Amino acid sequence: LALAFVGGYVLTMDPGLGDFPDGTLVVEGSRIAAVGPRDRVPVPPGARVVDARGSAILPGLVNCHNHAAMALLRGYGADLPLRPWLEEKIWPAEARLTGEDVYWGTLLAAGEMLRGGTTTFADMYFFMDDAARAVEEAGIRAVLSRGLIGAAPDARQKLREGADFCRRWQGGAGGRITTMVAPHAEYTCPPDFLREAAAAARDLGVPLHIHLSETAAEVADCRRRHGVSPPRLLADLGLLELPVLAAHAVHLDDDDVALLAQAGVGVAHNPVSNCKLASGVARVVDLLEAGVRVGIGTDGPASTDALGMWGEMRLAGWLQKVTRGNAAALPARRILEMATRVGADILGLGSVCGRLAPGLAADVVVVDLQRPHLVPHDDVAAALVYGASDADVSWVVVDGRVRVERGQVTGLDLERAMAEATARGRRLREGSLP
Ligand SMILES: [Zn+2]
Repeated sequence: LALAFVGGYVLTMDPGLGDFPDGTLVVEGSRIAAVGPRDRVPVPPGARVVDARGSAILPGLVNCHNHAAMALLRGYGADLPLRPWLEEKIWPAEARLTGEDVYWGTLLAAGEMLRGGTTTFADMYFFMDDAARAVEEAGIRAVLSRGLIGAAPDARQKLREGADFCRRWQGGAGGRITTMVAPHAEYTCPPDFLREAAAAARDLGVPLHIHLSETAAEVADCRRRHGVSPPRLLADLGLLELPVLAAHAVHLDDDDVALLAQAGVGVAHNPVSNCKLASGVARVVDLLEAGVRVGIGTDGPASTDALGMWGEMRLAGWLQKVTRGNAAALPARRILEMATRVGADILGLGSVCGRLAPGLAADVVVVDLQRPHLVPHDDVAAALVYGASDADVSWVVVDGRVRVERGQVTGLDLERAMAEATARGRRLREGSLP
């Protein structure tokens, strides 16, 4: 059965199509059947029609870096510096995690993300079969990877498990799940292990997902250990010959920026996490000017608290403007591209979603613009980036299925997920056994 959103301001985020200020979008099955001006796109007979006047219609948002199940540890250890936060709070709690915990944490995060207009997220965590089960049930799209600590005694076993996970789930959930191989970071993985992870990714035909140059200390340590920066080390080890999704990339010198551009690395920018953990401000404008594709991510809910992409977009813009002393440094339209088309592209989904174009998967978000904080507005993209929040999202469609209807998440028991996450989160923090 067809579904039509009629009369909204359509931002296709497709360079060839542009905007349709009074537009219609038609979904048939799992795909976008038509998009264009309202008077030129007929609504198919029998279609379910949603009056979208006064709303913006845009591609589903793409969260390029997350550890979704950390929703169970939301806000844990707030205001601690990075090392004690990890060593005293996060790692001991994570050591108690079970697969069921990861399932419920991921389910809650998926519900939260859908509610806010995110239709795709990239995840790196543990117990990924349980995460995949949650993604399958929630109806969201995800790029999943098992985080690999190469310095751990059982690292090779975990790499085999991570590769097996890719084989099991690549194309899973009706194509909504794809996978990556995820050596956690340079500082947790020795060079030999990084090479082996790259070889596994090459054999599987999937990209790499890795944390890169997140903190100044990490970069200084890498230079001490290896004599080069983290991006240069990855290049020397052959990793950058593969498609790579690099999270953070905050502390880069000019050579690093050029290297990432030349290698075609996709960067996931996580502004809230970078602020809260005092990591620093990524050189987003420099990266973009060098031709690097930069998407936006939230990082995990332990360091980010809420998974809303609207706040991430806003902060991404503010940080570039204020640090560069230039209000035009990163315009709203560019930020919206990062959160949709470019994000999909760096997750390897550029031909699947991230734009509203006929034939692409129907991953669609409708935002109610008739809200006190959004009227009047001159420019819809700017109103969305600087003013919108999760609660303004009225409809969300993923792969042609309605997942949020009039602001309510459908097909997912969010109350139950909240109760489970609360109980399980308490257990993880208190240190009792499951
Ligand atoms: Zn991360």
